[in-house]
Amino acid sequence: MRPRPAPRNLAAEIRAALADKSLETALSAAVTGINAKRREVISRFPGYEEARRRARQIEEQAIAALPELVDRFAAAVEAHGGHVHHAVDGEEACRIINSIARQHDARRVVKSKSMTSEEIHLNEALEAAGLEVRETDLGEYIVQLAGDRPSHIVAPIIHMTLEDVREVFRKSFALDSVPFDPEQLTQLARQRLRDDFLAADLGITGANFLLADSGTVVIVENEGNARMTTQLPRAHVVLAGVDKLIPGVTDLLPFLQLLPRTATGQLLTSYLSFISGPGWAGAPGHAGEQRGFHVVLLDNGRLAMRDDPLLVEALYCIRCGGCMTVCPPYQVLGGHVYGGPTYHSGIGNAWEAGVSGLATAAGFNDLCTTCSRCQDVCPVGIDIPWMNAVLRERIAESRRRPRGLLERAIVDRLLPTDEPGAVSIATRLFSDPARVYRLARRRPLRALMGWRVARLLLERTAGVAADRRLPVPAEEPFTSWFRGRSGRVVTNGLEAERASSDRRESTVVLFADCHTEHLETAAGRAAVECLDRCGLGVVLVSGHCCGRAALSQGMLRTARRQAEALQRTLAPLAKTGHRIVGIEPSCLSAVAGDHRKLLPGAVAEQVAARCHDVLELLEQRFGDAGVAGARAPEWKPAPAGPRQPLLLHGHCQQKTLGWMPAAVRLLESIPGFDLRTTTAECCGMAGSFGYKRDYYPVSAELGRRLIGEIEALEADPRHGRLAAGDAGSGWSTKSDGPSTSRGAPQAGARACRYLACGTSCRAQIEELGGRRAVHPVELIAERLR
Ligand code: SF4
Repeated sequence: MRPRPAPRNLAAEIRAALADKSLETALSAAVTGINAKRREVISRFPGYEEARRRARQIEEQAIAALPELVDRFAAAVEAHGGHVHHAVDGEEACRIINSIARQHDARRVVKSKSMTSEEIHLNEALEAAGLEVRETDLGEYIVQLAGDRPSHIVAPIIHMTLEDVREVFRKSFALDSVPFDPEQLTQLARQRLRDDFLAADLGITGANFLLADSGTVVIVENEGNARMTTQLPRAHVVLAGVDKLIPGVTDLLPFLQLLPRTATGQLLTSYLSFISGPGWAGAPGHAGEQRGFHVVLLDNGRLAMRDDPLLVEALYCIRCGGCMTVCPPYQVLGGHVYGGPTYHSGIGNAWEAGVSGLATAAGFNDLCTTCSRCQDVCPVGIDIPWMNAVLRERIAESRRRPRGLLERAIVDRLLPTDEPGAVSIATRLFSDPARVYRLARRRPLRALMGWRVARLLLERTAGVAADRRLPVPAEEPFTSWFRGRSGRVVTNGLEAERASSDRRESTVVLFADCHTEHLETAAGRAAVECLDRCGLGVVLVSGHCCGRAALSQGMLRTARRQAEALQRTLAPLAKTGHRIVGIEPSCLSAVAGDHRKLLPGAVAEQVAARCHDVLELLEQRFGDAGVAGARAPEWKPAPAGPRQPLLLHGHCQQKTLGWMPAAVRLLESIPGFDLRTTTAECCGMAGSFGYKRDYYPVSAELGRRLIGEIEALEADPRHGRLAAGDAGSGWSTKSDGPSTSRGAPQAGARACRYLACGTSCRAQIEELGGRRAVHPVELIAERLR
């Protein structure tokens, strides 16, 4: 049985990380650079999606055929004079490697980067056996000198600044003067490592891929240290998880195309090594020498992951690290906080659950906001947010105690839930936005929440951050307004059956998500108006939650029940070919994506296939793509003078599900505007994440960075000042915006409009930036005649 990990105080770790200015400098420079390079090289790779599809397929097939691949690989290695060892866990792997070292009379070991060796604490085991171990990857070398640990699987010192590295060199090498130039620092390390390479008896590497047909170990690297590690010492040990096996060399191409592009934004890495045996033994100058070549195949939980319908997907991971640099909480916290002992960020949760146990994963699972930005970038299409939601449920179940009397008598009545056992008030609240909005509509309660003492009490009892502004619901729900104009409202399957006979070409189904229904009713009204303008009648599906909020709390039973009810209502309409239109991207993404996992089957697939983001549908109808019934929009004429700046912040799921380009095209087609979009992955709110006491600081930091980007875009010369007289016209800055230096237009500044599709994005921009943002559909409705 695994020992229980020491409990973590995540809130304290978060506070410390956010206060660390050096970490902020290091991380933000690194993630910005890597993400920009990745975007650039991928945009120039036309075969990207095909390579992703192929890589995923190969991984799925390889993991399914793993026992057979292990046998084929072992036979091929042995045929070339190498040895294959099978290690059930880390302890056994360390024992095997120590015994190989003894067999080769090794005293000095050089290692190239291997997260698998971090996972099993190999260095400590070798040093305990009296061996000298030297890491030779530059980042790992610095980590070793600093007595630190990697915070990223590809860039181990992503958390360090140049000054941090200089300090490590100063202390480690007792230098009075340390160069400022990174190249000179590298030379310093290189000179020292050269002696280590030449003196080493044993080289240890990991592997990026193992080719079963030829017994070949494939190593992808940039520094050449892996080549030296494999070729100079008398023996070479490869430590690799069994998940690294793929059938053969013909399967390698998509991985070699994807790995460098996603990991570091490179077209190719500098060195690609194929090692199929002991190498130079018997070569000229080495006659009679016995060179050792050993491959240690590590299980350490991987075979159990293979049998787990959830965790099996993590085994497809090719360890590119792309999901980490785009992960919003990782971007501000780094891998030491958002990670376990070895693996980091969202995918790190699944890996730690698999190799260290659920209790380790529980230490940082909450930091996954399920924003989905990682899914977009993952070269093998791993659904990391889904894995983390299910892990959240497993973690909750592993801790579950029976409900108490008070909970059953009072809390269950006020905030019912489908989950078994005790469920905290915070979890109940965060999983049910419609209920929260209905409560907040009650004026006495709203007045009470205006008191700081009440907010502090709410923070203590329900974990709702006292500093976060609470949403104020609209007086009239969206559905009431829609009924008032004699619109057809459908709330159940029977009504949907009746409505399904409406003409499907000229009628669409608009899904009234909880946020549009209670809070952002203007967006709902504008959507109806725009659909009407392009000749589409609306049937409104109302009274259902998509289940997304419950899902992000790991409350899968509740989410499944909500999804079932919504699917029963949507299915008859989807079956008769009606298009389903959503306004709030996170809710639409639940219907188009998560429901297929919650309720696998043809019905959910059919509903998902009929889903459209409202802007995507409007762009189709207004565009000239040959869509039946399309008509050119009749925009109001643009006002005289320069075009008005328009800033659009894309919602996470809007980007992940590919709805963003249509939104941009549509907005660019409106006369008189100059559109710019933000590049921030996420505003930091991520639904309920930004309302939680412990995570509010992370959310606020991400929000501040977004506002910083907005300020930079506002200062862009292309959005330059207008002639006097236009000052302030249409400026949508809120007067009570608390935190930015640009709280009001300066004399001569041009009006700027702010757009965001997500309810929580708009709340964040308004609260932290003092700028009122609206859903783009509101602007479109305003500009249509
Ligand atoms: S989960 Fe995907 S993006 Fe993340 S490291 Fe693995 S392969 Fe790369």
